[in-house]
Amino acid sequence: MIRRNTVQRSIVLQTVGNLHNHATADEVYEAVSKAYPNISRGTVYRNLAVLAEDGDIRKIEVADGADRYDHNTEPHYHIKCVRCKNVYDYGRRIDNINSFIEGNNGFQLIDYEIVFRGICPNCQKEPDVN
Ligand SMILES: [Zn+2]
Ligand SMILES: [Zn+2]
Repeated sequence: MIRRNTVQRSIVLQTVGNLHNHATADEVYEAVSKAYPNISRGTVYRNLAVLAEDGDIRKIEVADGADRYDHNTEPHYHIKCVRCKNVYDYGRRIDNINSFIEGNNGFQLIDYEIVFRGICPNCQKEPDVN
């Protein structure tokens, strides 16, 4: 049983890595089920949760949409397009974010999650249909 769980887990982990675009649980399931039709949606969801808990992947909670999963576990920022709903890595770093937080409220910063919102270059070319 344990062995089987491990195999499924690594399939899910690999799929998140291959999708490399902050996939939703549904998108991960779709991709897994193409290659492994016997794996159920529940199994994929459960393994995503365990992988995120163990720090093998990063769960990004997006305020107005489904959670995303990221194979990049380093703290980094995201920017979400309000039109196409895609989530992108925001490449630049804000300097001194640790000391900014720690200097202001006595907390020791462990982790953070910042999701900016904007309109991606592709969507800026399209007329706003909404
Ligand atoms: Zn967009
Ligand atoms: Zn990311």
